[in-house]
Amino acid sequence: MKQIQHWIGGGLSAGTSNRVGPVFNPARGEQTGEVVLASTADVDRAVRTARAAFETWRFSSLTQRQNVMFAFRELVAARRMDFASLLTAEHGKTIDDALGEVQRGLEVVEFACNIAHLLKGDFSEQVSTGVDTYTIRQPLGVVAGITPFNFPAMVPMWMYPLAIACGNTFVLKPSEKDPSASMLAGELLAEAGLPDGVFNVVHGDKEAVDALLEHPLVAAVSFVGSTPIARYIYETGTRNGKRVQALGGAKNHMIVLPDADMDLAADAAVSAGYGSAGERCMAISAMVAVGDAGDPLIDGVRARIEKLKVGPGDETGVEMGPLVTRQHLEKVRGYVDAGEDAGALLVADGRDLVVDGYEKGFFLGPTLFDHVTTEMSVYTDEIFGPVLSTVRMEHYEEAIRLINENPYGNGTAVFTNDGGAARKFQSEVEVGMVGINVPIPVPLSFYSFGGWKDSIFGSHAIYGPEGVHFYTRQKVVISRWADPIHRGVDLGFPTHG
Ligand code: NAD
Repeated sequence: MKQIQHWIGGGLSAGTSNRVGPVFNPARGEQTGEVVLASTADVDRAVRTARAAFETWRFSSLTQRQNVMFAFRELVAARRMDFASLLTAEHGKTIDDALGEVQRGLEVVEFACNIAHLLKGDFSEQVSTGVDTYTIRQPLGVVAGITPFNFPAMVPMWMYPLAIACGNTFVLKPSEKDPSASMLAGELLAEAGLPDGVFNVVHGDKEAVDALLEHPLVAAVSFVGSTPIARYIYETGTRNGKRVQALGGAKNHMIVLPDADMDLAADAAVSAGYGSAGERCMAISAMVAVGDAGDPLIDGVRARIEKLKVGPGDETGVEMGPLVTRQHLEKVRGYVDAGEDAGALLVADGRDLVVDGYEKGFFLGPTLFDHVTTEMSVYTDEIFGPVLSTVRMEHYEEAIRLINENPYGNGTAVFTNDGGAARKFQSEVEVGMVGINVPIPVPLSFYSFGGWKDSIFGSHAIYGPEGVHFYTRQKVVISRWADPIHRGVDLGFPTHG
């Protein structure tokens, strides 16, 4: 069985705790590895190592940081298949989907390659006679990243490339369910020339997370995960004086208006609803069919999901893999049971799916509900599985109101051919990322990613320009060099002239 250790100070570390967590191959339903779970002492060692590395890394030149990022970019690109294989083995997603995940992570590395430009400050000459004012952005210190199971390579890459390029050092606590991609990242960063201790990985559960949230040498925390934990991270981290950005869960709605291109809408609903078995924070989980859109939309989605090939992610032609763990599979099945009991119409039922040769795998087939109402748990809760619910609404206004009343606000989409309707949507919808005839509106790395409402806690979205701001603090300098004018002591408040 594979043993997965911490990565501290540029090398492997078994840590001091004797606690371990299981790592599964979800397609086979078998345990394939064991990951060490950090004690508070292990976290303390990683943070102190990172803090020691900060003393020199913060003074590294922008050119050196960029060179490391360029080299890392090349190494990840060359080893993208190795990343994808690890993701498929531990998470279950298909190889194609995993390669897409690596690509989206790489885009943030590429953005970080441009850090010299991104850290430029402002300069104003002669704000007062002989006086200039300028700003510099400086790193914070040790930054912790705590990440979810569903994007084990990409979500950490939303954080550490930019944090490190800004001059911080980093301690990553990845999901204990699929920890191996972070270890490969550690090896490649070292190969790219990153000094030891700048990037560290501690595996673990609540004990490790709490140790990070309480450690006096952790300056900032980036978190991505479910809403209850995001709220906890934000409250605990800020109470301990840290800068925190905590991205939470989602319930993403896709409105389909009667004038939409129904083929486009059905393709989009299936891709965004069942891709990665619905285990994406930007997955569509509620279709809102307005007016006459309902019947053609349901017919289109049903016809497409009947053809979807479900199986192990490393098999050619497979489009949808298993869920991450048996426990999660049981939870998602429970939602399907509850939806049926509550009276929603089960158009496609994935509960009986058996994949030949993979009978113990954590599979659930694509599941589709129609006539879902807003008090049903399939509507109210984030299911995080291949379960798509359809709510029918008479009017567009009601559909927008439905989204605005939902506590989550991560992503949303409208499908229409009416520019005015689309414009109304982008203006009025209370959600952070909006798609117009685009189902998963994940911005590229030169914009920032972040929802609204219970999908984010803290004032900074992640990566992009907001990422640079999160990982740095501004210093403003007012300097006088030339021709000083000796005005003598003046206790009045400084004004300019
Ligand atoms: P999770 O909240 O269970 O776990 C996330 C991280 O928190 C993991 O590292 C985990 O070890 C840690 N954790 C779990 N329970 C904890 C506790 N009680 N105390 C302290 N730490 C704890 O999330 P998950 O199941 O790994 O990931 C799925 C969730 O992440 C979904 O809700 C999904 O929407 C969300 N997500 C959001 C985004 C986004 O950008 N908004 C992106 C990806 C995933």
